[in-house]
Amino acid sequence: VPRTDGQVPVAIEELAEWQRALRAQFPIITAHPELAYLDSAATAQKPQAVLDAVHTYLTTTNANAGRGTYTWANRTTALVEEARDRVKLFLGDPAPGRSTVHFTSGTTEGLRGVARDWLPWLLTDGDEIVVPVADHEANIAPWLETQRELAGQGVHIRVRPMPYQAASGDYDHTALAELAGPRTRFVAVSHVHHVYGADMNVHRIRRAVGPDAVICLDAAQSVGHLPVSVADLDVDFVLFSGHKAMALPGTGVVWARRARGPEFAPGGWAGTPNTVGIASLTAALDWLDAAGTDRIERWTVALAARLTEGLRGLDAYEVLGCQASLAADSPVQRRQGIVTLRHHAIDSSDLGFILFSHGFMVRSDQHCQGGAGEKTGSVRVSLHVHNTVEEVDRLLTVLASLG
Ligand code: PLP
Repeated sequence: VPRTDGQVPVAIEELAEWQRALRAQFPIITAHPELAYLDSAATAQKPQAVLDAVHTYLTTTNANAGRGTYTWANRTTALVEEARDRVKLFLGDPAPGRSTVHFTSGTTEGLRGVARDWLPWLLTDGDEIVVPVADHEANIAPWLETQRELAGQGVHIRVRPMPYQAASGDYDHTALAELAGPRTRFVAVSHVHHVYGADMNVHRIRRAVGPDAVICLDAAQSVGHLPVSVADLDVDFVLFSGHKAMALPGTGVVWARRARGPEFAPGGWAGTPNTVGIASLTAALDWLDAAGTDRIERWTVALAARLTEGLRGLDAYEVLGCQASLAADSPVQRRQGIVTLRHHAIDSSDLGFILFSHGFMVRSDQHCQGGAGEKTGSVRVSLHVHNTVEEVDRLLTVLASLG
């Protein structure tokens, strides 16, 4: 039985009524009370408001954007333009005139676009870029590809791998301060780690790399889960996936500050935009702002803490990226709503099947972690606002029964 002292129950108690009202807005969740969706890091479920926006757009407005002289086409063009402003507002952009928003199919395409269409402008022979050693593959491979392509053109870039702290899953900020130098031009980071659930303390990156380096933030696991403010985060690019932020699949965003280097203007993306997806994204951002991303964060952090606390008493499990907090006498490490675990004897994909036989939908594999990431599979439990204390406690009971 999980311990219920400290800040955890306060958040849960204070937010209980608010959470119940929000949970009721997810038709796929309320239709299946016997199931618990614990895979929001892979893709998020959609509230009714998003489904309604899709239906309304397709039944009242559907046309192509940026071409046409009739009402539906004009409205669609306006919808895409307004969505750019909506993204800037959602990201707390204090100077929207000095930033651009580009729609992509997701974070992966956005990161590839920055790497392929923008980064070569920045780099000259002898420059250095910092790449995390075990982020999502989408935030590793494109930078290495650019390095290889530039080398083919005689421009040699040094890639400096950024390590992690094993006990917390956060980047090793001390090591970063040591490895960053005057030739460091570009740093790729994640906001929240997709396996460890760690908040990567991005505000510390700028201090380590100085005012001139370009910081590119993969916010795939933070947008929709906690407040993400470009006013507070001194970064140059922010990328996220619409489908992880409750919009439809096939939508993604690259927010780019127009301060360092040329404007980000990816080639080859001038075709028909995903207008339905963009309509869903605007609705999703409206919904998230109304719900309050600060409260969503408090809720999922509290649930994750409860799950981690409960796992403390279960010797058969390790929790990735926070081994320290499993020691009974240490405080539970704060993490966002992702807890990834491994059973000492049961294979992770088997554990995934066992958990599904009890109604829990989790992810069990290597979670697309690239570079020096985990090579052995694990079970990732990722939470969102529709998840409940009861689901977490039921999961702990099942995990405990597996010895
Ligand atoms: N970056 C991170 C941290 C992720 O968690 C993911 C998806 O899991 C991605 C990038 C890729 O996102 P997408 O598949 O939507 O392009």
